[in-house]
Amino acid sequence: MKSNFNSTDLMPILFVGHGSPMNAIEENEFVDGWREVVKSLPKPKAILCVSAHWETSGTSVTAMAKPATIHDFGGFPPELFEVQYPAPGNPELAKEVRSIITKTEVGLDDKWGLDHGCWSVMRRMYPGADIPVIELSLDYLKPAQYQYELAGELLSLRKKGILIIGSGNMVHNLRLVDWNNMDTPGVGYDWAIEANEKMKELIISGNHKALIDYRSQGKAFDLAIPTPEHFLPLIYALALKQEDDKVTFFNDKAVGGSLTMTSVRIG
Ligand code: ZN
Repeated sequence: MKSNFNSTDLMPILFVGHGSPMNAIEENEFVDGWREVVKSLPKPKAILCVSAHWETSGTSVTAMAKPATIHDFGGFPPELFEVQYPAPGNPELAKEVRSIITKTEVGLDDKWGLDHGCWSVMRRMYPGADIPVIELSLDYLKPAQYQYELAGELLSLRKKGILIIGSGNMVHNLRLVDWNNMDTPGVGYDWAIEANEKMKELIISGNHKALIDYRSQGKAFDLAIPTPEHFLPLIYALALKQEDDKVTFFNDKAVGGSLTMTSVRIG
Protein backbone atom coordinates (compact mmCIF):
# COMPACT_ATOMS: atom_id res chain seq x y z
CA MET A 1 0.00 0.00 0.00
CA LYS A 2 1.34 3.43 -0.91
CA SER A 3 1.33 5.35 2.30
CA ASN A 4 -0.08 8.81 1.86
CA PHE A 5 -2.70 10.41 -0.31
CA ASN A 6 -1.28 13.36 -2.23
CA SER A 7 -3.78 16.19 -2.14
CA THR A 8 -3.09 17.21 -5.74
CA ASP A 9 -4.30 13.79 -6.93
CA LEU A 10 -7.75 12.36 -7.29
CA MET A 11 -8.38 9.18 -5.32
CA PRO A 12 -9.14 6.28 -7.70
CA ILE A 13 -12.63 4.79 -7.68
CA LEU A 14 -13.48 1.11 -7.61
CA PHE A 15 -16.39 -0.94 -8.78
CA VAL A 16 -16.11 -4.36 -7.17
CA GLY A 17 -17.99 -7.50 -8.14
CA HIS A 18 -18.71 -9.00 -4.70
CA GLY A 19 -20.34 -12.32 -5.66
CA SER A 20 -21.06 -14.82 -2.90
CA PRO A 21 -20.94 -13.71 0.75
CA MET A 22 -18.54 -16.66 1.22
CA ASN A 23 -15.84 -14.46 -0.35
CA ALA A 24 -15.68 -12.85 3.10
CA ILE A 25 -14.09 -15.99 4.55
CA GLU A 26 -12.91 -18.21 1.67
CA GLU A 27 -9.57 -17.99 -0.07
CA ASN A 28 -9.90 -17.74 -3.86
CA GLU A 29 -8.61 -15.79 -6.83
CA PHE A 30 -11.20 -13.03 -6.45
CA VAL A 31 -10.18 -12.33 -2.88
CA ASP A 32 -6.56 -12.25 -4.10
CA GLY A 33 -7.62 -9.75 -6.77
CA TRP A 34 -9.19 -7.47 -4.15
CA ARG A 35 -6.06 -7.59 -2.02
CA GLU A 36 -3.87 -6.91 -5.03
CA VAL A 37 -5.69 -3.76 -6.17
CA VAL A 38 -5.49 -2.23 -2.70
CA LYS A 39 -1.67 -2.54 -2.70
CA SER A 40 -1.41 0.14 -5.39
CA LEU A 41 -3.92 2.58 -3.85
CA PRO A 42 -3.02 5.40 -1.48
CA LYS A 43 -4.30 4.72 2.02
CA PRO A 44 -7.83 6.19 2.06
CA LYS A 45 -8.83 8.69 4.75
CA ALA A 46 -12.25 7.02 4.73
CA ILE A 47 -14.33 4.79 2.47
CA LEU A 48 -17.76 5.47 1.04
CA CYS A 49 -19.44 2.30 -0.11
CA VAL A 50 -22.43 2.12 -2.45
CA SER A 51 -23.73 -1.41 -1.97
CA ALA A 52 -26.30 -3.32 -4.03
CA HIS A 53 -27.73 -4.48 -0.72
CA TRP A 54 -28.95 -1.17 0.65
CA GLU A 55 -31.97 0.07 -1.26
CA THR A 56 -34.18 2.77 0.19
CA SER A 57 -36.90 5.17 -0.79
CA GLY A 58 -34.88 8.37 -1.11
CA THR A 59 -31.13 8.51 -0.46
CA SER A 60 -29.57 7.92 2.94
CA VAL A 61 -26.05 7.83 4.29
CA THR A 62 -24.98 5.90 7.40
CA ALA A 63 -24.14 8.43 10.08
CA MET A 64 -23.44 6.36 13.19
CA ALA A 65 -20.04 6.30 14.90
CA LYS A 66 -20.00 2.51 15.14
CA PRO A 67 -21.83 0.80 12.26
CA ALA A 68 -23.09 -2.72 12.96
CA THR A 69 -22.05 -5.67 10.77
CA ILE A 70 -25.31 -6.75 9.11
CA HIS A 71 -25.63 -10.43 8.14
CA ASP A 72 -28.20 -9.87 5.43
CA PHE A 73 -28.32 -13.36 3.91
CA GLY A 74 -29.54 -16.86 4.71
CA GLY A 75 -28.39 -20.44 4.16
CA PHE A 76 -24.69 -19.92 4.86
CA PRO A 77 -22.50 -21.59 7.50
CA PRO A 78 -22.50 -20.26 11.09
CA GLU A 79 -18.91 -19.00 10.79
CA LEU A 80 -20.07 -16.43 8.23
CA PHE A 81 -22.69 -15.14 10.67
CA GLU A 82 -19.99 -14.77 13.31
CA VAL A 83 -17.89 -12.41 11.22
CA GLN A 84 -17.70 -8.87 12.56
CA TYR A 85 -16.16 -5.96 10.69
CA PRO A 86 -15.62 -3.35 13.39
CA ALA A 87 -14.51 -0.40 11.23
CA PRO A 88 -15.64 2.92 12.68
CA GLY A 89 -18.17 5.11 10.91
CA ASN A 90 -17.58 8.78 10.16
CA PRO A 91 -20.53 11.01 11.14
CA GLU A 92 -18.71 14.12 9.92
CA LEU A 93 -18.21 12.63 6.47
CA ALA A 94 -21.88 11.59 6.41
CA LYS A 95 -22.85 15.21 7.05
CA GLU A 96 -20.49 16.35 4.31
CA VAL A 97 -22.10 13.90 1.86
CA ARG A 98 -25.48 15.31 2.84
CA SER A 99 -24.25 18.85 2.21
CA ILE A 100 -22.60 18.26 -1.19
CA ILE A 101 -25.53 16.38 -2.72
CA THR A 102 -27.99 18.95 -4.02
CA LYS A 103 -30.16 16.59 -6.05
CA THR A 104 -32.11 15.42 -3.05
CA GLU A 105 -32.19 15.72 0.71
CA VAL A 106 -29.94 12.94 1.94
CA GLY A 107 -31.11 11.28 5.15
CA LEU A 108 -28.63 10.71 8.00
CA ASP A 109 -29.24 7.08 8.94
CA ASP A 110 -28.63 5.63 12.39
CA LYS A 111 -30.22 2.19 11.87
CA TRP A 112 -28.42 0.44 9.01
CA GLY A 113 -24.70 -0.27 9.27
CA LEU A 114 -22.51 -2.27 6.92
CA ASP A 115 -24.27 -4.92 4.84
CA HIS A 116 -22.41 -7.83 3.27
CA GLY A 117 -22.06 -6.05 -0.08
CA CYS A 118 -19.71 -3.76 1.79
CA TRP A 119 -18.11 -5.73 4.64
CA SER A 120 -17.47 -8.98 2.73
CA VAL A 121 -15.15 -6.98 0.47
CA MET A 122 -13.79 -4.52 3.07
CA ARG A 123 -12.74 -7.35 5.35
CA ARG A 124 -10.42 -8.70 2.66
CA MET A 125 -9.19 -5.34 1.35
CA TYR A 126 -8.68 -3.68 4.72
CA PRO A 127 -8.58 -6.50 7.31
CA GLY A 128 -7.36 -4.11 10.01
CA ALA A 129 -10.79 -2.39 9.98
CA ASP A 130 -8.97 0.83 10.92
CA ILE A 131 -10.34 3.02 8.10
CA PRO A 132 -13.77 4.62 8.70
CA VAL A 133 -16.52 3.30 6.40
CA ILE A 134 -19.86 4.85 5.54
CA GLU A 135 -22.54 3.58 3.14
CA LEU A 136 -24.70 5.51 0.70
CA SER A 137 -28.02 3.89 -0.21
CA LEU A 138 -29.54 3.27 -3.63
CA ASP A 139 -32.90 4.93 -4.21
CA TYR A 140 -34.99 2.12 -5.71
CA LEU A 141 -37.58 4.56 -6.99
CA LYS A 142 -35.19 6.45 -9.25
CA PRO A 143 -33.87 5.64 -12.75
CA ALA A 144 -30.20 5.15 -13.58
CA GLN A 145 -29.82 8.63 -15.10
CA TYR A 146 -30.87 10.21 -11.81
CA GLN A 147 -28.44 8.04 -9.85
CA TYR A 148 -25.63 8.91 -12.28
CA GLU A 149 -26.23 12.63 -11.76
CA LEU A 150 -26.45 12.23 -8.00
CA ALA A 151 -23.23 10.21 -7.88
CA GLY A 152 -21.39 12.87 -9.90
CA GLU A 153 -21.93 15.29 -7.02
CA LEU A 154 -19.55 13.25 -4.88
CA LEU A 155 -16.51 14.27 -6.92
CA SER A 156 -15.00 16.57 -4.28
CA LEU A 157 -14.55 13.53 -2.01
CA ARG A 158 -11.98 12.13 -4.44
CA LYS A 159 -9.85 15.21 -3.84
CA LYS A 160 -9.95 14.58 -0.11
CA GLY A 161 -8.63 11.04 -0.18
CA ILE A 162 -11.99 9.32 0.26
CA LEU A 163 -12.16 5.99 -1.54
CA ILE A 164 -15.54 5.51 -3.22
CA ILE A 165 -16.43 1.89 -3.89
CA GLY A 166 -19.45 0.62 -5.77
CA SER A 167 -20.15 -2.98 -4.79
CA GLY A 168 -22.43 -5.13 -6.94
CA ASN A 169 -22.00 -7.43 -9.94
CA MET A 170 -22.09 -6.35 -13.57
CA VAL A 171 -23.83 -9.57 -14.60
CA HIS A 172 -26.07 -10.87 -11.82
CA ASN A 173 -28.93 -13.29 -12.43
CA LEU A 174 -29.40 -15.42 -9.31
CA ARG A 175 -32.40 -17.26 -10.72
CA LEU A 176 -30.24 -18.77 -13.46
CA VAL A 177 -27.17 -19.60 -11.33
CA ASP A 178 -25.65 -23.02 -11.95
CA TRP A 179 -24.86 -23.80 -8.30
CA ASN A 180 -22.77 -26.85 -9.31
CA ASN A 181 -20.32 -24.55 -11.06
CA MET A 182 -19.92 -21.91 -8.36
CA ASP A 183 -16.40 -23.15 -7.59
CA THR A 184 -15.29 -23.23 -11.22
CA PRO A 185 -14.47 -19.64 -12.17
CA GLY A 186 -14.51 -18.89 -15.87
CA VAL A 187 -17.73 -20.76 -16.64
CA GLY A 188 -20.30 -18.33 -17.99
CA TYR A 189 -23.38 -18.64 -20.18
CA ASP A 190 -23.03 -17.16 -23.67
CA TRP A 191 -25.38 -14.26 -22.85
CA ALA A 192 -23.47 -13.55 -19.62
CA ILE A 193 -20.14 -13.34 -21.47
CA GLU A 194 -21.75 -11.27 -24.21
CA ALA A 195 -23.19 -8.76 -21.74
CA ASN A 196 -19.98 -8.63 -19.72
CA GLU A 197 -17.86 -7.95 -22.84
CA LYS A 198 -20.26 -5.32 -24.13
CA MET A 199 -20.31 -3.57 -20.76
CA LYS A 200 -16.49 -3.49 -20.75
CA GLU A 201 -16.44 -2.03 -24.27
CA LEU A 202 -18.91 0.69 -23.27
CA ILE A 203 -16.87 1.47 -20.15
CA ILE A 204 -13.62 1.71 -22.15
CA SER A 205 -15.18 3.89 -24.85
CA GLY A 206 -16.77 6.11 -22.20
CA ASN A 207 -20.27 5.46 -23.51
CA HIS A 208 -21.95 5.89 -20.16
CA LYS A 209 -25.19 6.88 -21.86
CA ALA A 210 -25.62 3.37 -23.30
CA LEU A 211 -24.95 1.84 -19.88
CA ILE A 212 -27.46 4.17 -18.21
CA ASP A 213 -29.87 3.12 -20.94
CA TYR A 214 -29.25 -0.56 -20.13
CA ARG A 215 -32.86 -1.54 -20.82
CA SER A 216 -32.39 -0.75 -24.53
CA GLN A 217 -29.28 -2.92 -25.02
CA GLY A 218 -30.99 -6.19 -25.95
CA LYS A 219 -31.55 -9.67 -24.61
CA ALA A 220 -28.12 -10.32 -23.09
CA PHE A 221 -28.40 -7.16 -20.96
CA ASP A 222 -31.96 -8.05 -19.94
CA LEU A 223 -30.75 -11.42 -18.67
CA ALA A 224 -27.66 -9.88 -17.03
CA ILE A 225 -29.64 -7.17 -15.23
CA PRO A 226 -33.01 -8.70 -14.25
CA THR A 227 -33.17 -6.14 -11.43
CA PRO A 228 -30.97 -3.03 -11.30
CA GLU A 229 -29.52 -3.10 -7.78
CA HIS A 230 -26.28 -5.01 -8.55
CA PHE A 231 -25.67 -2.99 -11.71
CA LEU A 232 -26.31 0.51 -10.32
CA PRO A 233 -23.15 0.65 -8.14
CA LEU A 234 -21.22 0.53 -11.45
CA ILE A 235 -23.16 3.61 -12.60
CA TYR A 236 -22.10 5.40 -9.39
CA ALA A 237 -18.45 4.59 -10.07
CA LEU A 238 -18.62 5.68 -13.72
CA ALA A 239 -20.30 8.97 -12.83
CA LEU A 240 -17.12 9.99 -11.01
CA LYS A 241 -14.74 9.25 -13.86
CA GLN A 242 -12.81 12.26 -15.09
CA GLU A 243 -11.47 12.62 -18.61
CA ASP A 244 -7.87 11.60 -17.94
CA ASP A 245 -8.67 8.74 -15.54
CA LYS A 246 -7.28 5.42 -16.72
CA VAL A 247 -9.66 2.45 -16.61
CA THR A 248 -8.52 -1.07 -15.79
CA PHE A 249 -10.37 -4.31 -15.12
CA PHE A 250 -9.61 -7.05 -12.62
CA ASN A 251 -11.31 -10.28 -11.49
CA ASP A 252 -12.75 -10.40 -15.00
CA LYS A 253 -14.39 -13.83 -14.82
CA ALA A 254 -17.81 -15.42 -14.66
CA VAL A 255 -18.92 -17.71 -11.84
CA GLY A 256 -21.91 -20.03 -11.70
CA GLY A 257 -22.79 -19.25 -15.31
CA SER A 258 -24.89 -16.17 -14.65
CA LEU A 259 -22.67 -13.92 -12.49
CA THR A 260 -19.53 -12.02 -13.38
CA MET A 261 -16.99 -10.83 -10.84
CA THR A 262 -15.59 -8.27 -13.27
CA SER A 263 -14.32 -5.27 -11.33
CA VAL A 264 -13.16 -1.85 -12.45
CA ARG A 265 -10.52 0.55 -11.25
CA ILE A 266 -10.92 4.14 -12.43
CA GLY A 267 -7.96 6.48 -11.92
ZN1 ZN B 1 -24.92 -9.12 -3.80
